[in-house]
Amino acid sequence: MDDTKKIHLLSQELIPVIDELDDEPKQIILEHITNCEDCRKLYDSTVNFEKSMPKQVYSEEVEIKPLKKLVQFNIGLKLLLIIVRALILFYISYSSYKYYGVDAVSSMLEYFRSGIFLFYIPATIFLLVFTITFFNKKWIWITLVIDLLIIIFLDNIVQLIL
Ligand SMILES: [Zn+2]
Repeated sequence: MDDTKKIHLLSQELIPVIDELDDEPKQIILEHITNCEDCRKLYDSTVNFEKSMPKQVYSEEVEIKPLKKLVQFNIGLKLLLIIVRALILFYISYSSYKYYGVDAVSSMLEYFRSGIFLFYIPATIFLLVFTITFFNKKWIWITLVIDLLIIIFLDNIVQLIL
């Protein structure tokens, strides 16, 4: 089996999850696509599938291949990871405001900071395990940077707003 054939076989497996790949393997596949009609068709149908996914979930549920289900699972999990973080931040902000109000800004910020340490940090460590298990390096880094920014700077931003 020559290298082109090998790349072709791998492309057939990986094109349905191409959005989840790191840059280098993605480039290899995109290069291969330019001179392989089969893979180009598969790529086109994957891209179209993602665009029209809400519609197809209903009508073609039975025909969805396992890999496409995996793509849907990944999108769902990403949303869930974002929603859980948003809910925790909302809860911390809401309870800080409820207990102290804008009249006691320094106590409120203190409460907000401890909320971040007691709830947000443990939760993000827990969620990071999911990110490491299911997503590629790019997503792990994006998650880490966003969480660090929230942990370090969010109380300052809240302070500016008030
Ligand atoms: Zn091919």
